[in-house]
Amino acid sequence: MKAWKITAPTTLKLCEEQSESVGEGNVKIRVNKCVVSKPDAQTYRSPKTDYSVSPIGSCVGMVVEAGEGVSLTRGNRVFVRPQHYCGECSACRSANYACCENVEYYGITRDGFARDFAVVSESDCALLPDRVDDDSAVFLDFIAIATQAMTASGVKKGEHLVISGASTLGIILGQVALHYQVVPILIDINDDYLEMGKQLGIYYTINSKKQNPAQKIFHLTGGKMAECVAHISSGEVPLTDSIKCAGKGGKIVVVGRYGGDYNLDCSLIPLIENGLTVLGVGSAGKNTQIAINMLANKAVNVAPLVAGKVLFDDIPSLFAEASESPDHLKTIVEIK
Ligand SMILES: [Zn+2]
Repeated sequence: MKAWKITAPTTLKLCEEQSESVGEGNVKIRVNKCVVSKPDAQTYRSPKTDYSVSPIGSCVGMVVEAGEGVSLTRGNRVFVRPQHYCGECSACRSANYACCENVEYYGITRDGFARDFAVVSESDCALLPDRVDDDSAVFLDFIAIATQAMTASGVKKGEHLVISGASTLGIILGQVALHYQVVPILIDINDDYLEMGKQLGIYYTINSKKQNPAQKIFHLTGGKMAECVAHISSGEVPLTDSIKCAGKGGKIVVVGRYGGDYNLDCSLIPLIENGLTVLGVGSAGKNTQIAINMLANKAVNVAPLVAGKVLFDDIPSLFAEASESPDHLKTIVEIK
C-alpha cells in the first residue's frame, strides 16, 4: 500500500505501508477518486496533529474485502464520508450524529484518502447506486452539509435564503434551496462565480463589491429582508456584511467544513437590534443518503464545479496549488 502523508507543514512524503488487516465491522476499500477541500489544504499548511497523517477527508472507493458482521460485499462501490461517529455517546444514541462527543475526521485526526487502499468502518460508508457516477459522488459531503444547513435555516417554500459566498458549498446550497422551492440570493465578490450560480438556476446574484447587498435585498424582498442568511465560512464575503441581510427575527446559519481556519470576526450589534438567531453547521450528520438521492434525481449538478483531473502522483503539486487558491472549483484526484 502507498500513501501520501503530511510529515511537516507543506510537506507531503510518499510512504510504503504494510497491508492493514480488516477487523470486525470494517471494510477494506480501493480508493478510486476524491477531491481536495479547503480544510484539507489548511491541514497541509498547519497539520492539526503532531504525527504524520494522510490528507483528504472523503473518497469514492470499491470494497475489496469485508470484515465480520458487515453487510457490504466485495465489489460494492461506496462513498466514505469525512466523519467517523462513535455510535456510543449520548448524541449518537439519539441519532444526533453532528454532535458526537468522540467524532474523528479522516484526513485530520486519522488517515484520510491520499492512498491507494484504506480500512474504514462500514458505518462511514454509503453504497452508491449505478446512476451516481464517481465524478459526482466525490461532492457528496458538500451536498450533505448543504442539506444540513437547509434544515437548520428553517426557511420554507417561497421564502428567501441569502447565501453569502459562492464557493463550491455555496453554489451547491443554492441548488439545494431551489430543490426545496426556496428563493436563493447568492452574494460574492467574483462575477465569474456568480455567473456559474446563475447558469445553475440561481436567479438573484449580487456582487458585494459593486452593490450594497442589504439595499438590493431590501428591494428584492419588498422591505422584509431575508428569513435566513447562510454565511459560507470559506467564502470571500465578510460575516459583518452577511448579517445585515437578515430581516427582523431572522436566522444566520454559519456553514463551514470542520478543519477550516476561517475569519469570522464581526460586530454582534445587528443581532441585538434585529433579534437574530445564530446557528452553526460544521458537519453533515448522517445526511449522506439524502445527498445521494439528490444526485440520483439530478436535483444538484456538480459537473460545472470540476476544474480538471489529476493522478495520484500529482497530489503534492495539487496541495501546493489548493492551499493558495479560493474555495471555488475542485480538481478530481484519480487514485486507482
Ligand atoms: Zn458519538
